Amino acid sequence: MVIKPYKETLPLQIMRCLIPRYKLPPDAKQSYFYMEKGHEGEQKFAALLESLSNNFIILHDLLLVHDSTIFQIDALLITHKTIYLFEVKNYEGEFYIESDIWYTLSGKEIKNPLLQLNRCVSLLRQFLQKSGFKLPIKGKVIFINPEFTLYQAPPQLTIVLPSQLNRFLSQFNGNFPTPGKSLKKIADIIVANHVNEASHRPSHYDYDQLKKGIVCKQCKSLSTSYIRRLVVCDDCNYEEDVDSSVKRSIKEFQLLFPQENITTSIIHEWCRVTPLKLIRRVLVRYFTMKGQGKNIYYVDSNR
Ligand SMILES: [Zn+2]
Repeated sequence: MVIKPYKETLPLQIMRCLIPRYKLPPDAKQSYFYMEKGHEGEQKFAALLESLSNNFIILHDLLLVHDSTIFQIDALLITHKTIYLFEVKNYEGEFYIESDIWYTLSGKEIKNPLLQLNRCVSLLRQFLQKSGFKLPIKGKVIFINPEFTLYQAPPQLTIVLPSQLNRFLSQFNGNFPTPGKSLKKIADIIVANHVNEASHRPSHYDYDQLKKGIVCKQCKSLSTSYIRRLVVCDDCNYEEDVDSSVKRSIKEFQLLFPQENITTSIIHEWCRVTPLKLIRRVLVRYFTMKGQGKNIYYVDSNR
């Protein structure tokens, strides 16, 4: 059973909203590229885990703290005997190992993923011991990309290569007992201690820097116009109903500026292409009005 499902991380969602509106500094662009790549790998691995028997507890994307040290876990699979901790890598290309150092084929040293794995395993072990649990933990680095090759890998390494992945996962297809109360308690403690990632928001943007307008749902272009109840993309001709494009743009605004109040005038400026009257109508129809007179603002209706 999946207790904490895989979801795109907040920094990735934020970066996706920023890309069409802001010229990212080169290092941020690079880190966005790696985020998308990592997301793709984790999503693929999550689908594989979720296709296994239901007799395990699965948790994705955890941020935990032990003794003021923060550590991030891609996925945990809890069986009645063992906790498996997975670090998922979507590396592509050829790599080799020499004296415990990892290199690309061109000789560039990369971060040794096993060091990161061992650190996480050790911190999780201490974290669980503190809560009174002693289930053994096995860590594995999962190389998910079929285009990944590793030369000179000693067989005892705690890694799973793309060609070994199906065989590795097949061990979880036998008859396992249904998770009992104590396993669920471990999962509950882990989830309760998961640190909200809001503290890890990218913060290198501000409202004035961002280009305003409605982003095309299909090609992410900002060259869109409002034509008779539709928002039409000048680049790919995609047409979207105006209500849904305004609602989508409001969600983006909320994600990027969670502290800001949603008002008719700010959303009018944010969407740029649609008339003020229409923005007000969308807000009244789909959101809940708060405040009075000049101080009217809107919040999500389900709050
Ligand atoms: Zn488009």
